[in-house]
Amino acid sequence: MPVDADPVAERAAETPPEADALPINELFHSLQGEGKLAGVPSVFVRTSGCNLRCWFCDSYHTSWEPSHAWLTIDEIVAEIEGYDADHVVVTGGEPLIHEETVDLLERLDERGYHTTVETNGTVAVDAPIDLASVSPKLASSTPTPERDPTGEGDWEQRHEQRRLDHEALATLVERYPTQLKFVVTGPDDVAEIDRTVEELRERTETTIDDADVLLMPEGQTRSDLDETRGVVADLALEHGYRYTPRLHVDLWNDAPGT
Ligand code: SF4
Repeated sequence: MPVDADPVAERAAETPPEADALPINELFHSLQGEGKLAGVPSVFVRTSGCNLRCWFCDSYHTSWEPSHAWLTIDEIVAEIEGYDADHVVVTGGEPLIHEETVDLLERLDERGYHTTVETNGTVAVDAPIDLASVSPKLASSTPTPERDPTGEGDWEQRHEQRRLDHEALATLVERYPTQLKFVVTGPDDVAEIDRTVEELRERTETTIDDADVLLMPEGQTRSDLDETRGVVADLALEHGYRYTPRLHVDLWNDAPGT
């Protein structure tokens, strides 16, 4: 079950306040489910709004059907301080499309929190970030008309044009300790992962070890993952990359606030 899901949105403003604020979809305490810090208790701040539309988006209500309430940065920090946690995960949606996310990260840094930012890697900012969890989106994420959850196909072209920004990716890799986390739908994704990592290695002086390249199975429910996790684990083993589970799905399936 979720560790602690806070219905913070129910108490927050529906229109943007005058002070610095962010559109918040969820704010909750749980275990980090993905990546190098999987299993670490963390406060999650999920902003709403994304510049991409992956067909498999696991935070549908921040992208395809965004919903949120506005919280000032002061209110967000106060909520975070109400939990007994040292780690804060700022996620989305795409949290870096909001300028105020930088303010939030600065405030958390002043208070000594370890911050992870989960980003799709299309926006580079200058902010104190302890771990950039960058998830470049592969061609298999594109919402073709057959896969678009709205059935309209409106986002196919925009998503395809925006999904990989090598300059922004290189800036993030150079600026922050980074993990590159690819959502993998099957063996056909590996060639694009290899090309993307190779291009980044050519563009930056920073060493990108294979152990910093994480393959994560696509799937939002336990039964989805039953189909993909074995395949993706085998691909990680075969290609020398790191496998990452989706621990929160294994533990709590698709419950909100996890
Ligand atoms: S980038 Fe992330 S939040 Fe945006 S649509 Fe894709 S999976 Fe959803």
